[in-house]
Amino acid sequence: MAKEPLIRANYHTHTVRCNHAAGSEREYVQQAIAAGLKVLGFADHSPYIFQGDYYSSFRMRPQELSSYVSVLQALKKEYEGEIEIHIGLEAEYYPDVFEDYKELIRGSGVEYLILGQHYAGKEPSKRYSGRADDDEERLHLYVDSVLEGARSGFYSYIAHPDILNFTGDYRLFISEMDRLVEGIVKEDLPLEMNILGLREGRHYPREDFLALVSKHGGKMIVGCDAHRPQDVYDAPTIKRALELLEKYGIERTEQVDIRRLEKLL
Ligand SMILES: [Zn+2]
Ligand SMILES: [Zn+2]
Repeated sequence: MAKEPLIRANYHTHTVRCNHAAGSEREYVQQAIAAGLKVLGFADHSPYIFQGDYYSSFRMRPQELSSYVSVLQALKKEYEGEIEIHIGLEAEYYPDVFEDYKELIRGSGVEYLILGQHYAGKEPSKRYSGRADDDEERLHLYVDSVLEGARSGFYSYIAHPDILNFTGDYRLFISEMDRLVEGIVKEDLPLEMNILGLREGRHYPREDFLALVSKHGGKMIVGCDAHRPQDVYDAPTIKRALELLEKYGIERTEQVDIRRLEKLL
């Protein structure tokens, strides 16, 4: 019998359309099957409709959405019985343009969204969440946006919730992260343990954040955030992630409610 994989599901997989990922969709699927995954969710960086002529370079363009969905639908069918494939998007919550956003994804075949707030406030605000900065306004805006997005009911889990890189007053940071975790737990949404960040030694996932998740009894899901086929299942890093969850006594989940979107659109 094949060895049980460390995780059975990964809902955070990118494609070349975001301009910073490699490999074909099929290669991601094949790697996932070889690793023994039962569920593979694609959640590439979502297209967004912005006002004016701003172009966001790290996401697919709106006109690429239909081919994204159709390529994945074909693979879903082809690999039926071997692996369950789901079609999602990793999207920010930008309230100003959210109505247009809903219009964009309605009827597109996208099954689920994960919330990855790469910018606090809307683009092009220049408030990239991962940049080391002591901007308190950005901190508050990040937490408010993620909470509001979570409460909208559109998102199935929170990707790299601890991506906000705040270098100012530590007590303020922790109290804002506490507010974030408490609110997400209230919505009963899983928080992601991000494998990409862990492998690359980024500022996230961070242990003081894990302590807050533990304190509030939050559940975490391992998200591979794969931008290369081999990262669909990076065993050594996943192992480290599981050890961290164990260390903080955090419950791991692989239950993602991907039916939220179809009920709302
Ligand atoms: Zn990316
Ligand atoms: Zn992300």
